[in-house]
Amino acid sequence: DKRPNDLSAFWMPFTANRQFKQAPRMLVAAQDMHYTTDDGRKVLDGTSGLWCVNAGHCRPKITEAIREQAGKLDYAPAFQMGHPIAFEFANRLVDVAPEGLDHVFFTNSGSESVETALKIALAYHRVKGEGSRTRLIGRERGYHGVNFGGTSVGGIVNNRKMFGTLLTGVDHLPHTHLLTKNAFSRGEPEHGVELADELERIVALHDASTIAAVIVEPVAGSAGVLIPPKGYLKRLREICDKHGILLIFDEVITGFGRLGTPFAADYFGVVPDIMTTAKGVTNGVIPMGAVFVRKEIHDAFMTGPEHMIEFFHGYTYSGNPIACAAGLATLETYKEEGLLNRGEELGAYWENALHSLKDAPHVIDIRNIGLVGAIELEPIPGQPTKRAFSAFLKAFENGLLMRTTGDIIALSPPLIITKDQIDEIVDQVRKALNA
Ligand code: PMP
Repeated sequence: DKRPNDLSAFWMPFTANRQFKQAPRMLVAAQDMHYTTDDGRKVLDGTSGLWCVNAGHCRPKITEAIREQAGKLDYAPAFQMGHPIAFEFANRLVDVAPEGLDHVFFTNSGSESVETALKIALAYHRVKGEGSRTRLIGRERGYHGVNFGGTSVGGIVNNRKMFGTLLTGVDHLPHTHLLTKNAFSRGEPEHGVELADELERIVALHDASTIAAVIVEPVAGSAGVLIPPKGYLKRLREICDKHGILLIFDEVITGFGRLGTPFAADYFGVVPDIMTTAKGVTNGVIPMGAVFVRKEIHDAFMTGPEHMIEFFHGYTYSGNPIACAAGLATLETYKEEGLLNRGEELGAYWENALHSLKDAPHVIDIRNIGLVGAIELEPIPGQPTKRAFSAFLKAFENGLLMRTTGDIIALSPPLIITKDQIDEIVDQVRKALNA
């Protein structure tokens, strides 16, 4: 009997998980595309854990690399010291990163990557003599983690409601909800590019000389898979360039092959100044994040003798050797198995399979890009989230793990998925909706 009989001391992350206390769904093992539950059932992982296990679960090469590194150099400081594997991993990461993003700052999570990126943006303007640029612009419905900066630039109002404005001088690009009304569009929607021009309005409101950076998820994940219209990110890039504002892409979800290219920047042909990553960087196996920046940004801190004073930042576990070993083995696995482009190979199959659900009960929109999908359901009047959560429970009972956010079912399976397993996901979703 593996089920703990006393759950009282464990504070579940996020209060919405309260229901789990009554009916805990315990996952006790995993391999490749599947979890095993405590009652011995196999469950197909339709969400890569939490959008992170891109190469699938318990891959022997990654497990072995961790084991070996833990027995060789378990921990070493990254302050005033170095260890070879951190340099090696940073170099390999830059090899797969979009052109121009050639320095890497290691963190331990997506939230820390976001805080790091925001601080880099502020510090960069300061060392360049533009210290008045302190304002940060996020987007409505954006998700950037749970720390102070990320909560502030984040645009999911519920997440901020207990805290008010944590950072002053933050604004959000509005009307992002319109991006969800894609009416069963496939890939990038044709309509809505003008929403990017809201940035011009915000710049005019605050004056460009006060704005440090704009941060967006290229495809917003946590708010229910919001895919930007054609040309939207390019337009944001142009407006930022025109006004000397840094553009940050939060690629915590979209990084490492999720869209069928190594990064969303590659998919959309738009390179940001700073790019945050985590999750897939170590296949979700060891907590780690990596922030990529352009050389010019890195060098701005490294030229004067006083750079340490201008930018004091770093974590005890930045570039932790075991995390780097996991990351290197992950990158090798991605490359050996062609996983960073697999979403492109399978994209058309995935798209057709998902859109075959358009006549399933309660479905009001379907969106897809790379190996990400969203099935939006008509809410039960007065009971938001209930329909999708019921479908989630049913699917889990029948052997599929999916994720719901509001009345949206989000899917993001490991990139090792087969066509048969795509069919299985779609069949399971249909069954859950019929039920
Ligand atoms: N940014 C984005 C875009 C995310 O999706 C997430 C996590 N879902 C985060 C930041 C925060 O990452 P973490 O939970 O590792 O702190």
